[in-house]
Amino acid sequence: MSGSLEIGEYKYLIDNRNQEIADFLKAEAVKKRQEIYGNTVFIRGLIEISNICKNDCLYCGIRASNKGCDRYRLTKDEILSCCDEGYSLGFRTFVMQGGEDLSFTDDLLVEIIGEIKEKYPDCAVTLSLGERSFESYQRLYNAGADRYLLRHETADEEHYKKLHPQKMSYKTRMECLKKLKEIGFQTGCGFMVGSPYQTTENLAKDLKFIEEFSPEMCGIGPFIPHKATQFKDYPSGDVDLTCFLLSIIRLIKPSILLPATTALGTAEQGGREKGVLCGANVIMPNLSPRSVRSKYELYNNKLISGNESAQEIENLKNSMKNIGYEIVTDRGDIKEK
Ligand code: SAH
Repeated sequence: MSGSLEIGEYKYLIDNRNQEIADFLKAEAVKKRQEIYGNTVFIRGLIEISNICKNDCLYCGIRASNKGCDRYRLTKDEILSCCDEGYSLGFRTFVMQGGEDLSFTDDLLVEIIGEIKEKYPDCAVTLSLGERSFESYQRLYNAGADRYLLRHETADEEHYKKLHPQKMSYKTRMECLKKLKEIGFQTGCGFMVGSPYQTTENLAKDLKFIEEFSPEMCGIGPFIPHKATQFKDYPSGDVDLTCFLLSIIRLIKPSILLPATTALGTAEQGGREKGVLCGANVIMPNLSPRSVRSKYELYNNKLISGNESAQEIENLKNSMKNIGYEIVTDRGDIKEK
């Protein structure tokens, strides 16, 4: 059912990308997603629970050593009110994402997950809280969390070292991903397109990794520089290359949940629509309190709408309708064929 190529073949495809090949893969990808998901688009309410982070990823705006970052952390009640608002707007998945903030202990997270699940048993809870101990992942799963997003960032160990401080390790990240899957989470990996030092060989390895790991979800978006990082003068990742890779990932695993990310919408106006037209089937609108949205700044010029959430979702529904897609009120689990 799923597609497979050698690393060298993926590299050949990327190196020889042209309009004709991109159009062909896009049409095939859309056909596949259509067979499984029709023209539906799933939405996930993104709640950015904290921008406090113990890690120091070289590309990230909320890295620990960015002293200019105005730090915040949401309370349990604030998180629950985000869910209340989201539920009334039709969200049936809540994603809690944040920096690696030690204040979010297992006990606290277990309590929050439990309350969301109790209040909204028809909703899925996704976590995107970085690397934690295996015991911690297990406790969060037992508390009712359904999915976990942990981008692998790059499937090449040497490249990983160029993007992260010495004390972070490629092996740990990969072990976390394997563990998450083993525990039973619907698991998501992913990477940035056009991150500093990235080669087409690196991207080919990312695709091979996705093929072998077979995640339920995969988040990819262009790298976008942040002015307070050492990568501030690097160019943003290419939108068309990102869309090309989205099509290939859809063909590798036709049932995958594939978001058109905020970074894609930030790198180019209409980027998320382009992503959906190339095979993506998930969008993750922001449900965080408006006062913190600009503080959760992984990269500069993040797409933040000035509208109320209700208006924002209405606009999104219309823009999807205009390209022939429909946002649905649904947990949006993977449809394994
Ligand atoms: N702390 C969590 C969540 C990270 S933020 C974790 O470790 O998983 C989510 C994703 O944003 C990261 O995995 C990274 O791929 C992406 N990101 C970070 N900085 C970025 C940048 N400058 N440009 C584009 N994407 C970035």
